[in-house]
Amino acid sequence: MRITILGTSSATPTFKRALSATLVEREGESFLFDCGEGTQYQLMRAGARRGRLGTILVTHLHGDHYYGLPGLLSSLGLNQREQALQVIGPAGIGRFVDFIQNFPRRFSLPFELTCRELPTGFEGVVLETDELRIVSAPLDHRLPTQGYRLEEKPRPGSFDAARADELGIPFGPERGRLIRGETITLADGRVIEPADLVGPPRPGRSFAYCTDTRLCLGAKRLAQDVDLLLHEATYGEEFWQLAEERRHSTIRQAAVLARAAGARTFVATHFSTRYDREKIKELEDEARAVLPDAILATDLMTIEI
Ligand SMILES: [Zn+2]
Ligand SMILES: [Zn+2]
Repeated sequence: MRITILGTSSATPTFKRALSATLVEREGESFLFDCGEGTQYQLMRAGARRGRLGTILVTHLHGDHYYGLPGLLSSLGLNQREQALQVIGPAGIGRFVDFIQNFPRRFSLPFELTCRELPTGFEGVVLETDELRIVSAPLDHRLPTQGYRLEEKPRPGSFDAARADELGIPFGPERGRLIRGETITLADGRVIEPADLVGPPRPGRSFAYCTDTRLCLGAKRLAQDVDLLLHEATYGEEFWQLAEERRHSTIRQAAVLARAAGARTFVATHFSTRYDREKIKELEDEARAVLPDAILATDLMTIEI
C-alpha cells in the first residue's frame, strides 16, 4: 500500500506547500482523502494513475479540503473517464457535488458521479469490498468533520513459488486454488495441501487520516494500532491557545495521541503557513520529544506500508 501526501499546508497554499490531499494506492485501485485546490497538479507531479481513482473522501467543508474537486472531476471527464466515481463526505458535500455535475447544464460529466453524505457524528463503515473496509469517526473541529481509516482484511499467506516449481505444479488455476486455501489433485494423482505451499494469512495493512481536529477520542479510535497515522499538526506548542480556539492540534498533542493509540508510524501534516522551511524544524523537535521517530510530511512524500 502506497501513501502519497500531496499537500501539507493549512488554510492557504504557499510556494512550497499545496493544500490537503492524500492518495492511497493499493492493488490497482486508489483512494483520495481530501481534495484541496490544486490537487490535480499534485497528482500529476506524483505520477499517479488518475484513472484508478474510485473514491474521494472529504473530511469537512473548509475550502482547503475540497475546492480541488471541480477541476479534478472536470479533467477526468475531459479524459473520457467512464467508470463511476464516488464522493463521500459530511452533510452538505452533496450540494457541492450536485453543482459540479449539473452546472452549467445537467450531467456535465460523462461518467456517473455519486455522493454519500455522512450524518453529523457518524461512526461506522462507509465502504466495504472483499479486500478492505473504510471506517469513519467524527473529529472535533469548527465544522462537522469526519476522520477515516482504511484497513485491509487479512490477506492470503505468501505463496512459495519455488517450492511449487519443485513439486511440478503447473502455472494456471491450480496455483490460484492453493492460494485460496483449496486442496488440489494433480493430473498424476498427487494431492497437494495448501499448507505445503502457502504461509499463514498476513494481517491487512491500515492507514488513518485525521484532519482537521483538536485532540479527540474519534481520532484515537481511528488511530488505534494503525500502521500509519496521518494527523494534523497545525501549530507548535507556543500557539496551543490558538489551536484550542480554532480547534486544531499542536504537533505535541498529535504525537501524544499517536503514542497513546499505538500507531506504528506517525506522520504530521497541515502546517500553518507561519512555519517556513527554517521554522518547521521547531515542530520536528517538539514531535520527536514525544515520539523519536515522528515524521513531518513534505509535499509529495511517499510512504509504503
Ligand atoms: Zn484545513
Ligand atoms: Zn478546517
